[in-house]
Amino acid sequence: MHIGIDLDNTILDATSTHLKYYNIASGQSFTDKDVNDFYIYRLYGWNRAERDAIYHQYGHDIHWHSPPFPMAVEMIQQLFQHHQISIITARPELFRQVTLDWLKHHNVNYHQIALVENKLEQCISAKVDVLIDDGPHYAEEFARSNKSVILYEQPYNLSVRHDSVLRASNWREVKDHIDNLALKLKLTNLTLSDSM
Ligand SMILES: [Mg+2]
Repeated sequence: MHIGIDLDNTILDATSTHLKYYNIASGQSFTDKDVNDFYIYRLYGWNRAERDAIYHQYGHDIHWHSPPFPMAVEMIQQLFQHHQISIITARPELFRQVTLDWLKHHNVNYHQIALVENKLEQCISAKVDVLIDDGPHYAEEFARSNKSVILYEQPYNLSVRHDSVLRASNWREVKDHIDNLALKLKLTNLTLSDSM
């Protein structure tokens, strides 16, 4: 199977590092308990341009210091043995190098990486079978397009309600979903080849 995996708040904890550097920039002291919006900068009352300026200043530190979630690296290493792994992130090109360095530093195995805003288009053109992501808008878009998606649970995506969206609150659950999907795909292929 070809598996697409998001980075921020899917493989790694981006909330804590965004809060740390956004607090430094603003003099505020928000904690993860205050976060209930995918767009963390809105907590600070910034508009998009203000956020972009601060993100450009602190983005390198934010991305370098974000810790991987428990079991994420181990589970991806296991998936890498049997599947095609694409990292698919909406981070800008500006942070490509720190992203590659972080993945190497934490021993994350993958075959390709794409830095793109339009993940649905990317997954269709690269023939990705399933995307793992925390973004509520991505989950809804994929579900509407009948594309498999595993939603990595975060406080701001609990309201996503689509029967076809699979949910995971840790990397063991992600791995279980992938194993089930791979089995289903195998059975479908067997049935297809039987009927030929
Ligand atoms: Mg994300």
